[in-house]
Order: sequence, then C-alpha cells, then structure tokens
Amino acid sequence: MPTLLAKNAAVLVTMDDGRRELSNAGLFVRDGMIEQVGPTDQLPQHADLVLDLSGQIVLPGFVNTHHHLDQTLTRNLPAAQNNNLFPWLKVHYRVWASRTPEASRCSTLIGLAELAASGCTTVFDHAYVFKNGSRVDDQIAAAKEIGVRFHACRGSMSLGESRGGLPPDDCVEDEPAILKDCVRAIETYHDRSRGAMTRVVLGPCSPFSVSTDLLKESATLARAYQVPLHTHLCETMDEERYTLERYQLRPVAWMATLGWLGADVWFAHAIHVNDDEIKEMARTGVGAAHCPSSNMRLASGIAPVKNYLAAGVKIGLGVDGSASNDGSNMLLEARLALLLARLRLGLLPPEGPRTFFLLSQSHPLRAHEWMTAREVLEIATRGGAAVLGRDDIGSLEVGKCADFFSIDLNTVDYAGALHDPVAATVFCAPQKARYTVINGRVIVENGQVVTVNMRPVIDDHNRFARQFAGQS
Ligand SMILES: [Zn+2]
Repeated sequence: MPTLLAKNAAVLVTMDDGRRELSNAGLFVRDGMIEQVGPTDQLPQHADLVLDLSGQIVLPGFVNTHHHLDQTLTRNLPAAQNNNLFPWLKVHYRVWASRTPEASRCSTLIGLAELAASGCTTVFDHAYVFKNGSRVDDQIAAAKEIGVRFHACRGSMSLGESRGGLPPDDCVEDEPAILKDCVRAIETYHDRSRGAMTRVVLGPCSPFSVSTDLLKESATLARAYQVPLHTHLCETMDEERYTLERYQLRPVAWMATLGWLGADVWFAHAIHVNDDEIKEMARTGVGAAHCPSSNMRLASGIAPVKNYLAAGVKIGLGVDGSASNDGSNMLLEARLALLLARLRLGLLPPEGPRTFFLLSQSHPLRAHEWMTAREVLEIATRGGAAVLGRDDIGSLEVGKCADFFSIDLNTVDYAGALHDPVAATVFCAPQKARYTVINGRVIVENGQVVTVNMRPVIDDHNRFARQFAGQS
C-alpha cells in the first residue's frame, strides 16, 4: 500500500462542504485514497514519496465532462477554421473516420497530457466515429498508459445522409453492431468500484446523427447495466430547427419522449434552452457540460450557466474539441467560463420594465448574476464529479481519491495578485501544473508528463495530422 505525503502547500483548496481553504497544509495518501488533509504539522512525517509544495497552491483535480480526444489530430484544419457546427462537421466526418488505432493512441496521449498539465485528473471522452478498425479500447489503453482517470464513451452514429442525417453514409455504423459493441465495452471495462480508474458511458452522438430507435435502445441498455448516458443537445439553432422539422418538438421535449431525461444523463453544451427546459432539467436531474471555447469558436452561443446553477442543474466544465477549441486546457476553459458568463450578462437588458436601458449598463438587479472565480472552480471540480455521477472525486477530503494539482504562486504571471491566490488561478493567465497527482501517482512534474515519453508521441501525432490535413 504505497503512501504519499504532499506537504507545505501555501494554500490548499479542499472544495469540501465547508469550502475550506487551508494555509501551510497538505495531504497524506495511502493506496490512491486520501487518508488525512490538514495543516502540515498535523500530518505524518514520512511516506514512500514526499512532495514539498512550498510556495504552491493545491486544488482538487479538474473533471473534464466533454471531449473528443481524437480531434487533436484535426486541430486547426484550414477548411474548418471559419464555420459553425454543421459545415464544420461535414469537413471533418470522413477525416475522423479514416483514423487508425495507432493514431487514436497518439491523440489520446496528446490530449490527456495537455489536460493533465492544466490540472485535469478525470476525463470523459466522447468518441463516436468507429471505422477503419478503431475501437473504444484504443482510448482506454492510452489512458491507462498515461495514468489519467478515464470515463470512456462508446459513442455512435447511425443516421447517414440517405436517411436524413448529417454524416455521410460511409461514416456511420449499423445499429445492431453498435449495441453489441456497447455491451462488450461495458462488460470488459466498466468498473463500478469506488476509486475506479475506468468507467464506460453510452453516447449516441447527436439528434442529427442517430435514429430515435438507437437513442431509445441505448437508454434501455444503459439502464440495464447502470451506466450513464450522454449526447450533444441544444448546441445550435440548426439542431433545434432539425428536431422541430423532423419530430415537431424542441430538443429537450423530444429527448423526454425517448427516456433521455434523468439523473444518469448529461448533455454537452445545452445552450439554446428556455426557462421551462431549465426547470425540467433540474427536476429530472439532467446535467450539462459547459464548453465555452467551443461555443465561441463555432459561434454556437452562450449557455445560461448562472441560470442553471440557480435552478439546481448539475453543471460541469468541458474543453470539447480539440478541433473546435483547439486546445485541451482546463485552466483556460475555467477562465473562459468566467469571462463568457460575464459577457452574457453584459448582453442582457436589465430585468423589469426598463428594457430600453443600454446593453452592458451596470445595474444592481444583476449583481447576484456575476460568475465568480470560486464558482468556476467549483463547477470544474465538484460540479464535474456530480455530472459524471461520482462521489469519490471533486474535493480533497478523507476517503476521496488522491487527485490534485499544484501551481507555483511566486511567478511573474501571478505577481501582484497574491492577496487572493485562489481567485488568481482563474483571473490570471492559465499556468501549467507544477505537479498533477492522480490516484496518488505523480503524472505531471514541472508542467511535463512523466509517465510517458511524449517526444516520439508528438512526432507521430504530427505525422498523422499532416496526413489528415491532406485529406480535408
Ligand atoms: Zn462535442
């Protein structure tokens, strides 16, 4: 049972129920789980591994609730730089379908390395294009190789253009084969135990790429095995128009008819919703993954995150992409979530009869709607854990997983902001982690992954990406 002592942190953000922020503190870890949290002088003196975190802030590991790791292979494609979701997808579908298992390994390692270096310790990956020999096993193996806690999605697309869907027919799979492989993935990899490093999620891709039958059958299967469900929803007005024309229902109402509103479901984006839909999501326990970079990059819109929080909807943060971001940096995403919520506020008129007031005019009625740095950190940690249905991550408490990261405070980037180091991690420019620890194991040291030699992975990844860029 290996032990780890992390000590002398200038500040330790617990995110426990009291939201305690401790000075000169640390953690004692045994076998991947936190055994003690508190002031350094109250912790054991010895351990198999000791990390001296003097001059650093420690935060609970971030939880990324929406991503497509394979898309690191198609970052920044010229043909997809300046379009919104539907045309952007059409540029990418066939390129994604041509990736190989080896390319998937590289992209997963690249994305997870970038995430881990930005403080992320648990990643949900929504893979949904499985052609050319690719399987969800490729991502799971790479996540194990690097040591990141991983929720793998056996996603799917089944509705090709000839049946009214958006993807080309040669990029979708047969539905019986999809469901059979979902069963295989769950039975092979899904670990229900506390502290699990691998879990499986079912994720039909979107309203315009799967059939109603597949959505219903995926929900039935997920409930039989008690695994969560995930899809993209309410991302664009194009999608809303699609469900209105095809099913005569708005997206949330349509999903309700398919058994897709429940505490085991979360939607990526959830931008275009009205107040009644927010209430329905809160009532049924549906969560949402907020992905600010992608939503700005594709001009999708601004999710009403503060309204969700006020209504009691579970909200996590997702980097999405990486072809719609084009990064996998959770600290950057946290900062953008703060800024985007404020931009949304500035674009709204004041409540009440005085709607003729100029936009962005300060008004006390809106004072409680400001997103704060601590709220964003809470969404990125506890919020993401709730969205993924886990009670063993998201905070630094006795009995929880030893997933945390540290950042050096005494740097040029934070100089002048240290009267509130916690808020500085969001307000100031995103920094790389000094240490990222997952399951009690050091994954990142001085901003670099130490579990995998990334140099050859970067070279291979760039080679694959150049091939893909030539196809688009
Ligand atoms: Zn997505």
